Amino acid sequence: MSRPSAGIGWLSPSRAWRLIECPASVLPVAGTVSGGKGKPEVNTGILAHRALERWIRSEGFRAADPKTALAEATDACAAELAGQPPAGWRVSRARLVARGMSLVDLIGGRAPDQVHSEIELKDEDLRLRGRPDLLLTGDEIVVVDLKTQTLREEELPAWVEFQLTVYAHLIRTVHGQLPTRAEVFSLNRGRREVVITDESLEATLVALASARTLDPSRANPSPEVCRFCDRRLVCEPHWSAAAKWPDADAVTGTVERTEHAATGVVALLLTTANGRAWVSGIPGALASVGSGDTVRVARVSPVLAADESRSEWRWRNFSAMTLAN
Ligand code: SF4
Repeated sequence: MSRPSAGIGWLSPSRAWRLIECPASVLPVAGTVSGGKGKPEVNTGILAHRALERWIRSEGFRAADPKTALAEATDACAAELAGQPPAGWRVSRARLVARGMSLVDLIGGRAPDQVHSEIELKDEDLRLRGRPDLLLTGDEIVVVDLKTQTLREEELPAWVEFQLTVYAHLIRTVHGQLPTRAEVFSLNRGRREVVITDESLEATLVALASARTLDPSRANPSPEVCRFCDRRLVCEPHWSAAAKWPDADAVTGTVERTEHAATGVVALLLTTANGRAWVSGIPGALASVGSGDTVRVARVSPVLAADESRSEWRWRNFSAMTLAN
């Protein structure tokens, strides 16, 4: 396989999938437009990954009570946050602690130097790199990828299988063989095997090589990919498409009115393409906008009215907002 152009740079398994789905999604974001405080938000997924890594690195799986050790790892990671844990953490924490015990059996009696978490694997030629959540080496190589998103279907989504296949390629590059077993560790579905063959691996690498040749400015909006994209606040194709998505988590409109609550949060009444809509619960420090400003708000929860229209959106702690140009 030919060496890729350096323009797009290194790809992780998740960026590689996004490149295939929407080439523009891997371009750097110009400027800071997030409604956050300049630091990446620690969402539930990041926190769960930190907790699992802490448990593995501290060999909590060998403790007399591994479940308590995992619960302690989750609480220690949550305690390191500057503020409250993210929304949804209570449920994710409970799932992680309950389902994490299945990893104790998987790890078994491996030696300490055969149990790795977040160890970097690289393919210099293809400019691919990744850090699997759990990599077990020895006679058998096992890779496990933690997924904190709720997987709704029984069948694993294509993006989950793709990412594990990229990890399998990296393992073959570094360790000289495909993993004996590749698994997704889903917080809501538990451990699920992904069968990786030479053929499926080759197909993945061909798709990736082809995606590297696409025009990197080409945007291909879809709810699944845009939801995790850092560029969405500045991406015009996203905003054109999102207005028509039935399950959109983003809204844009012109500020008609601003209301300040005694708690310090702000609500904005927007005129949108689909009518008037409130966005409520915005932290006061982030809502320095006035009437006539056009704003974009992403990662907000719709409040469905009885007729299923979306005339209200609620701010979440990982929501973001910017002024439209
Ligand atoms: S927001 Fe959507 S369409 Fe725009 S670059 Fe990201 S994934 Fe592509």
